[in-house]
Amino acid sequence: MDKEDNTIESKLSANGKTLLEKRYLLRDAKGKIAEEPNELFRRVAKAIAGVDSTYGYSVDKTEDDFYQVMADLEFLPNSPTLMNAGTELGQLSACFVLPVEDSLKSIFKSLQDMSLIHQSGGGTGFSFSDLRPEGDPVRSTEGVASGPLSFMTIFDKATDVIKQGGRRRGANMGVLRVDHPDIFKFIGAKKKEDMLRNFNLSVGVTDEFMEAVSQDRDYALVNPRTGKVKKRLKARDMFDRIVTCACQTGDPGLLFLDEINRKHPMSAIGTIESTNPCGEVPLLPYESCNLGSINLALMVKEGAIDWQKLKETVDTGVHFLDNVIDANKYPLPEIEQRTKQNRKIGLGVMGFAAMLARLGIAYDCEEGIATAEEVMKFIREEAVQKSVELGEQRGSFPNFHRSTLAKDYPAMRNATVNTVAPTGSLSIIANTTSGIEPMFALTYQRNVMGTRLTEIDPVFEEMARKHGFYSKHLMEEIAETGSLQNILNIPKETRRVFATALEIKPQWHVRMQAAFQKHVDNAVAKTVNLPHEATEEDFREIYMLAYRLKCKGIAAYRYGSKAEQVLEIGGTG
Ligand code: UDP
Repeated sequence: MDKEDNTIESKLSANGKTLLEKRYLLRDAKGKIAEEPNELFRRVAKAIAGVDSTYGYSVDKTEDDFYQVMADLEFLPNSPTLMNAGTELGQLSACFVLPVEDSLKSIFKSLQDMSLIHQSGGGTGFSFSDLRPEGDPVRSTEGVASGPLSFMTIFDKATDVIKQGGRRRGANMGVLRVDHPDIFKFIGAKKKEDMLRNFNLSVGVTDEFMEAVSQDRDYALVNPRTGKVKKRLKARDMFDRIVTCACQTGDPGLLFLDEINRKHPMSAIGTIESTNPCGEVPLLPYESCNLGSINLALMVKEGAIDWQKLKETVDTGVHFLDNVIDANKYPLPEIEQRTKQNRKIGLGVMGFAAMLARLGIAYDCEEGIATAEEVMKFIREEAVQKSVELGEQRGSFPNFHRSTLAKDYPAMRNATVNTVAPTGSLSIIANTTSGIEPMFALTYQRNVMGTRLTEIDPVFEEMARKHGFYSKHLMEEIAETGSLQNILNIPKETRRVFATALEIKPQWHVRMQAAFQKHVDNAVAKTVNLPHEATEEDFREIYMLAYRLKCKGIAAYRYGSKAEQVLEIGGTG
């Protein structure tokens, strides 16, 4: 084993290693694993750093920097980059939005485009709002339209079929505007267990609608084909239906379309109607975005944030992700063109909750929120600065002068720089908490070759040892409930720091999302996880609070309300 291999092997957890073996390491023609984890990171570093030579820069140092941040698990690019960089497929992005216009030709082109994207490991978002409603006339056949929902079921089925052949399953976001005549059906679509299983659903709401809910006013359903008002109804009735279904099934969430477009630096180019599957990247039709996430748990030194290290990691991350745009092999020419016009990237974070624990700060308190803002503000400012620097060296993104960024910056390489991705798989590889989510449990039962073993959250174990209350007996006691809250001989402060997702009040989840959103120019993927007993009233409050705090979207999930989720932590790879 060489030196490189040694370092990585000692850093990877057993689960991280298994996941890499199952889904990421290249295989030979017989299906046998043909690379080691260090070779994976070397392959990716090489493929992405190679871009520097086209700009006249030396590749070697860049390659080493890229290799090192990945091998140290301090920064990881999204799964398609890890899987496909340096391979023939070469598709590196996780996020796409495709247009769906009101014609069979457009609908089925979109379906075909989706299949190519899913095959290569990307996820797709669609707005179905332009489709004429069910029962509307179809002139060419003198028949009637079957409406957005019927077409969505075809996209869903196609996703199922393609899943069999890909390395990770395709995920979709389906959006319908709240003023579409078929919205009622859309909202309740997932009440049937097996319907639209490969979709997350979001109702696209406007400020006007949200204000109508607050003030108990009417609003209009409008036929998108004719522009005619079909019906007027009470906004509160529609909102109640959304809340009821969300409480029962976890869908739909909301997308705050006006807030998204107000903050979009490219509003001169077009209107955003959808996001990628998990909501963290609002995109124009045919745009794609590649993501990468910094492991914040490793940005702590001696109980404090290591700002210098964070700065360096941000710089490397932005450089890396910008190179990905050039190294990428795009599934469609339209996507390549659109993506290269705006050069959006999404530098995100994972391990935020683990970082807070290392700092001894609880998630659900003012200090937790303030830390989130401080960290993300720093990351965004540094990322923007790096993007300006790259813009000066390599040229701004082609649409720069049509963007709102041109008034604030001399040059800029990327129309957006940061995001918060769910990091469902990346966080397993990096062995930390996902995205900005609180810890889900402190102990996990795992079945290892027929034996049930109790695993303890690594940061919790580290803290328990550091503060002298680690004991086998105590860990077993915690394993019974997965929680510290009833173990009174652990100091109260420690119990607060290790509060898990379902123990944290929903308002804090939303406030945390909003705190990050303040300093994120894409959006924030977050699920407000609620205990099984949560009520419709809880959902109503959460959705309203998210709107008031200027989130770009909101999704909440009541524990146990779905047999299977589109994206399950630990199950998506
Ligand atoms: N995604 C997907 N299928 C999956 C998981 C993710 O298409 O099974 C896409 C989707 O667009 C999602 C994005 O990848 O919003 C990022 O998800 P995540 O951060 O969980 O991906 P990771 O890089 O950790 O695999």
